[in-house]
Amino acid sequence: MDAPLVMSSRIDPAEIDDEAHNVDVTTEYPLAFYEATREQLSPDELDVEMELIEDNLGTPGEYEGFAHSHDTSDIAAGPDLSAYKTLGDMQEKMDAQLALSRRLRAVDETDVAERIIEYHFLPDLLGNLKAFASQEFRCRGCGTSYRRAPLTGTCPNCGDEVSLTVYEGAVTKYMDTAIRVAEEFGAQEYTKQRLEILEQRIERLFEDDTNKQSGIADFM
Ligand SMILES: [Zn+2]
Repeated sequence: MDAPLVMSSRIDPAEIDDEAHNVDVTTEYPLAFYEATREQLSPDELDVEMELIEDNLGTPGEYEGFAHSHDTSDIAAGPDLSAYKTLGDMQEKMDAQLALSRRLRAVDETDVAERIIEYHFLPDLLGNLKAFASQEFRCRGCGTSYRRAPLTGTCPNCGDEVSLTVYEGAVTKYMDTAIRVAEEFGAQEYTKQRLEILEQRIERLFEDDTNKQSGIADFM
C-alpha cells in the first residue's frame, strides 16, 4: 500500500508534506526547553527558539547543514522487527498496547482505551456496517456482480445462487471487544453510549425477521 505511484526526479522541500518541515536541526536544545518540559507545556506554548527545517525553506539551508543533537553509532539501530509484526491479530496487538499503557505511570490507560475505541473500533465498525448495507452481490456460478440482489433470488445469467460479498462477521468482528474494552477501562459514558447505539443498529440489521404467524390476540 506504500508503493510509489509517482516518482519525482527533483524534490522541492517546499512541496513535500508539512510534517517533514517540523524537524529540528539544532546541535543542542536550549536549557529553557528542558525547563519547559517540567511544566509539561505543549509544543505550541513553548517560547523557545528552536531551528526547524521550516525556517530554512527557500534558502540554501533547505538542502544542507542539518544538525542533530544526539549521535548514534548506527543509523539503523532500531528494532529490526517491531511488535506490530511479531504479534498476531488485532486483538493481540491491542491487548499488548493496553497492557503496556497500564504499566507506564506516565500513560493514562483510560485515555488510551478511549482513543482506540474512537479512532480504531468505531470507524471500523461503522465502515463495515456501511459496506455491508451498500454491498454488491455476486453469482457463485458465473461470477457476475450485481449492484442489487436480483429479485428472483438466483442469477438471471446462469440461474446459480447469488451470494453476499460482505459478510456479517466482517461487521460484528470487533463489537464485543470494543464493548469489553470500554467497560474494562472505564470509558466515558458518551463513548459507551455510541457503542451501545451501534450495537443496536447492528442487531437490528442482522436479526432474523422472518415472518412469524401471529394471532389477533397479539394486538389486543
Ligand atoms: Zn451466474
